[in-house]
Amino acid sequence: MSNSQQSTLNKCINFLQLHLPQSCFLCGTRVTGTLLCAGCEDDLARLPATCCPQCALPTSQGEICGACLKKPPAFNRTRSAFSYAFPLDSLVQQCKYAHASNLTEFFAAQMAIQAGQSNTQSEPLDYLLPMPLHHARLAQRGFNQAAEIARRLSTRIGVPWLPDACHRVRNTPSQAGLDLKARQRNLRGAFSCSIDLSGKRVALIDDVMTSGSSLDELARVVRKAGAVEIQAWVLARTL
Ligand SMILES: [Zn+2]
Ligand SMILES: [Zn+2]
Repeated sequence: MSNSQQSTLNKCINFLQLHLPQSCFLCGTRVTGTLLCAGCEDDLARLPATCCPQCALPTSQGEICGACLKKPPAFNRTRSAFSYAFPLDSLVQQCKYAHASNLTEFFAAQMAIQAGQSNTQSEPLDYLLPMPLHHARLAQRGFNQAAEIARRLSTRIGVPWLPDACHRVRNTPSQAGLDLKARQRNLRGAFSCSIDLSGKRVALIDDVMTSGSSLDELARVVRKAGAVEIQAWVLARTL
């Protein structure tokens, strides 16, 4: 199939997805043009109204949390659309290992809503930078979920994304089961940034923030490349 045929086919699929009744991805109710029915979307766990602005963990008055005061992360702000809980966690896992473009589109749409709500008073961003995946893992999976989200989010909010600015130069072992100190050690030297970001305001894009160690390490590298404002934007935050 030629590129133009593929593009026409994609447009037809998008049209059909928007206009034909489908089933809610979670409960099977009939919906048109959305992935989830209104009820299921309402049921997704949101973050509490008051959170630490820097790391998005709940605090009583929305003040900076003790951990961020003691050892501030290299990013200035965290924006998260949801708390990482059932059933969103299983949607994210499904999408991570078997790329589902309708799920990724839904994630990007939710992050765009979140960006619109929380960015009204701050200066515009210059770039979105997806969390890079090591090339060995990229070859294994065939796609990088964070990049897929960043590309779609970029179209929605009109901020350019840079797919090749940051690289994962070390294929670090899985972070699962490691405590915070071990996670930080595990990630040292994992990333590089190949462009000059002097004076730029950027958002690092990832699907989930767990301890925040990967985003912190990437932010450190991006800060060294000259960025003056670094935000971490994720779909969901582990509480
Ligand atoms: Zn539903
Ligand atoms: Zn914090």
